[in-house]
Amino acid sequence: MLFTTNIIFHLRRTVKRWIMDTMSTHPKATKIVATIGPATESETVIEQLIHAGMNVARFNTKHGTPEWHRERILRVKSVASRLDVPIAILIDLQGPEIRIQTPGEQPIEIQENERVTFATTQHTAEKTIIIPQAVIDAEVEGNTLIIDDGLGEFVIVGKNADSLIAEAKNACSIGHRKSLNTPGVVINMPPLVEQDYMHLDAATNDLVEYVGLSFVRNAQDVHNLREELNKRNLMANIVAKIENQSALDHLNEIVLATDVVMIARGDLGVEVAFEELIHWQKTIIKLCLEQAKPVITATQMLKSMVNFPYPSRAEVSDVANAVYDGTDAVMLSEETTIGKYPVKAVAAQAKIVAYNEQFAKPNTIEPPDIDASQWLTHAVSLLLKTSGDPSKSLVIDRVVCFSETGTTAKQLARFRRIRRIDVVTDSQLTYHQLSLVYGIQPWIISLENENLSDTQGVVAQLATHGIAKSGEVVLLIHGSHWKQPNMTNVLKIVSIP
Ligand code: PEP
Repeated sequence: MLFTTNIIFHLRRTVKRWIMDTMSTHPKATKIVATIGPATESETVIEQLIHAGMNVARFNTKHGTPEWHRERILRVKSVASRLDVPIAILIDLQGPEIRIQTPGEQPIEIQENERVTFATTQHTAEKTIIIPQAVIDAEVEGNTLIIDDGLGEFVIVGKNADSLIAEAKNACSIGHRKSLNTPGVVINMPPLVEQDYMHLDAATNDLVEYVGLSFVRNAQDVHNLREELNKRNLMANIVAKIENQSALDHLNEIVLATDVVMIARGDLGVEVAFEELIHWQKTIIKLCLEQAKPVITATQMLKSMVNFPYPSRAEVSDVANAVYDGTDAVMLSEETTIGKYPVKAVAAQAKIVAYNEQFAKPNTIEPPDIDASQWLTHAVSLLLKTSGDPSKSLVIDRVVCFSETGTTAKQLARFRRIRRIDVVTDSQLTYHQLSLVYGIQPWIISLENENLSDTQGVVAQLATHGIAKSGEVVLLIHGSHWKQPNMTNVLKIVSIP
């Protein structure tokens, strides 16, 4: 019986290693977040996405009920567990995003220069677009309203207590429930909407590793979500989506408050002038690297692949440049929710990032003001920063780090010096969460002997679990006390017999 269990265990590990080594044409350090939708909801396609290089499955709760999402999350979890690979689940809440309504839910055809009424209910005016009162209150004449990511642009020419009159800058067809952006204007709306609470209530620790917060305005919005998670005993990390001017104005405090940042370029690209977008992308990524906060570059990365099996040259350049900027992950939205080529899109991103990572320069960033409780972790990561990629040396074949919360792993990863760090944890949450972080290959094991100063014992465990192979020389990084967060203080070179 024990013999059979061992054989099954080793077979699973062999398959896992094979998947890790063959995921996409090249093994990659940059991670891929793919949004699950009608094009990718089946188990078969989810498995293909994982083989192609998906590391995080994103669920956009703007669409679908909690039950719809739960069913598909369970599918992803079940495929990941069968393949024995870490996949994180990100549920992306709507937050104070504004969606317009159209009377009778019918599209409205609008001509260039035509005047349209924006009101809270169907107005006497012939063409009315329904919006919340908070937008009317915040806006003034001369401001711009943007619908459906720029499909329709309107300039406000008149304001009443319960309506705005705006002139169309271009002819457009406005559909029901399309997004409304108010560039430069902060709308007084609660940070979470009713539907967000429903999705939080339905979330559980074994289903959700990340919660995305849309239209974050300041650190308080992040603290507020953290309280909501705490109230529900949810341990998920927060992904703050930077998508408007207010978030840019409070960037430092948001990066400090959150666990992960997403550069939500779809909305950010209309909330600020589009020529500013890439400047902000680089600024945000640099700040995240300084603070060791993982960062996702999102939206329209391979948009043409919604309809075509091949990316445009500009898209290839966009994905590659995100890697050179130092992003942890690149994201796909409609490419994988409704696109005709979702698996090809993930495979294309995987190829682009894997190829370009080889030429991306390590960071020259300095650590932020050091928190005294973490000085050992910082010292170890700084030592590695100055000594180059140990796995490229003639001596070291593999870098293995023991990380209970993932903090040490993120500290090491942010220098972008080591393209693969095998991270051992015994926490399911950390195991899946780390699948978002650049260069991290998470492993979950529960150590029979938790005394890491027993080097022989640790080496034996690495070999037993297939983390390191016989003959390899491994750089071990850990604390003297396993499971004591922020106490990494040991660098050890060991060889696997
Ligand atoms: C974005 O605006 O880029 C984005 C990711 O947000 P969402 O897709 O949730 O609108």
